[in-house]
Amino acid sequence: MTQPPPPDRADAAYPSGMPLPDWAALRRAALEARDTAYAPYSGFPVGVAGLVDDGRIVVGCNVENASYGVGLCAECGMVSALVAGGGGRLVAVSCVGPEGDTLMPCGRCRQLLWEHGGPDCLVATSTGPRPMSELLPDAFGPANLGR
Ligand SMILES: [Zn+2]
Repeated sequence: MTQPPPPDRADAAYPSGMPLPDWAALRRAALEARDTAYAPYSGFPVGVAGLVDDGRIVVGCNVENASYGVGLCAECGMVSALVAGGGGRLVAVSCVGPEGDTLMPCGRCRQLLWEHGGPDCLVATSTGPRPMSELLPDAFGPANLGR
């Protein structure tokens, strides 16, 4: 289990005025959230934590269901917490799996992160933080709807 290295090339494009991510704190928050996951079917608990542009940290965990297809990814809970807590923009996200390993958001959740963080939102990966613009290139988003 290794910490993601500090932002490097992504840091150069990091928007000024945004809180700098404390990746270790985000990871700790994600691990705590993971420990609350409801994953009795897969046995694959996931936790995620996101830094909001106002400095808040929002978290989520996966919540499975006996009707497997309606299970919720950890990012779903995190985005719900973001919106329910007053909204804001995600600027950095860390997602961890059962062994504390860094996990990548699934395709659907990348879309969620794009909606609420945009192209500059940094996501911890096994090779370091990467912006959403690299994780969801040519994304469909609010701009396509004129929003
Ligand atoms: Zn997902």
